[in-house]
Amino acid sequence: MPDTHAPSNVPLVHQWMPFTANRQFLEQPRLITGAEGVYYYNTRGDKIFDGSSGLYCIPLGHGRREIREAVTQQMQELDYAPPFQYGVPAAFRLAAEMAEMLPPGLNRVIFSGSGSESVETALKIAIQYHRVRGEGQRQRIVGRERGYHGVNFGGWSVGGMVNNRKSFGLGLPGALHMRHTKIPENQYEMGEGTHGANLADDLQRFVDLHGADTIAACIVEPIAGSTGILVPPKGYLQRLRDICTKHGILLIFDEVITGFGRTGQNFAAQTFGVTPDIMTMAKALTNGSIPMAATAVREEVQQTILDAAPENNIEFYHGYTYSGHPVACAAALATLKIFREEDTFARVRNLAPAFLEQIGAFKDLPYVTDTRGYGLLSAVELEPKGKPGDRGFNILCKAFEAGLVLRAAGDTIVLAPPFAATADELSQMIDIMRKVIKES
Ligand code: PMP
Repeated sequence: MPDTHAPSNVPLVHQWMPFTANRQFLEQPRLITGAEGVYYYNTRGDKIFDGSSGLYCIPLGHGRREIREAVTQQMQELDYAPPFQYGVPAAFRLAAEMAEMLPPGLNRVIFSGSGSESVETALKIAIQYHRVRGEGQRQRIVGRERGYHGVNFGGWSVGGMVNNRKSFGLGLPGALHMRHTKIPENQYEMGEGTHGANLADDLQRFVDLHGADTIAACIVEPIAGSTGILVPPKGYLQRLRDICTKHGILLIFDEVITGFGRTGQNFAAQTFGVTPDIMTMAKALTNGSIPMAATAVREEVQQTILDAAPENNIEFYHGYTYSGHPVACAAALATLKIFREEDTFARVRNLAPAFLEQIGAFKDLPYVTDTRGYGLLSAVELEPKGKPGDRGFNILCKAFEAGLVLRAAGDTIVLAPPFAATADELSQMIDIMRKVIKES
């Protein structure tokens, strides 16, 4: 008989859990009841290492006092104000601070509540940018196989996850997909792959086939995250940049996972030395404490839209009730302050070489078919056992019992630890993972 109650006697059947095997969960609930620093706790009080930084969103570890205090204070001063036609100082301050961190030129920021929303915002900006310039026929968006850009209709359509198509059908018209960049030539390479920059020429092929004047934007994650950490081949992103520039296509980087230090610099754009026209970010912006996301654009992109005559006193017909929510802004401002004062991303640069070496060493284990990674973002790909995804899911379940939260993208195990972890804690995490993989 499944245990359909949490230990505290909370019934478990009424919440429909997202991205979860709900029936299986009821049989073997993995309940988390507390967290501090880089550990979670369950009701038994077991310590469980957070090997995925929440969902890539808690680089500083859990429960930072400064964020809690900033949120509490903001709630006392101003809990909410409408973000359309009114403004709150915290949102302007945050946008200004983010402009300082972003690559030069990307200095206009529009807020939203989730990564998925930041992507929709980016796609709509790209379309409108061309329309106000009299190029309204630029309606196609080029994404990539194995891309993940959230769950909303625009985002999943330009993304390249097969299950979305199986589940939800056709999606946004005009979405095109380049090939993904996981190629056998780069097997077991940690860091940027040596081979495959030419895969960016898929974009050129779409230009040749459909005409540049039908393409609004090209969207990629600099490192594809949710489909198993695909690090770009050397030169690939620059090649995309060059093709976009040549043909007036806006380049969008989805930095929802890679933003805020994951690759050792503020953004992967800086790590790889390629600046997009539009960038999305979320997750680590508030250290996961309050939902918040943002879309940054080059000043010229915003100016072009502002220069068009506003309709109904509105320039960009888009926004969310919780865009620039003052409490989320307070959490983000406190988070960015810690990043600056503690030079948090330097920790990534220091920890990454040994971490990636240890991940690379998984190559010698049975069933391992690839290892990949950059910064504190890594993947170990395994041979399927049974149905695709079964082995990955089994490892996730066993790791939880053994004291580790991780991500399984099918049969690829993803580790993305908090930057606050010590080198010893990372080694302990790797030990648990090795043991669980061996037993899988
Ligand atoms: N884009 C990327 C690259 C992501 O990794 C994610 C989430 N993992 C999203 C968008 C969607 O973010 P959210 O779940 O906050 O909507």
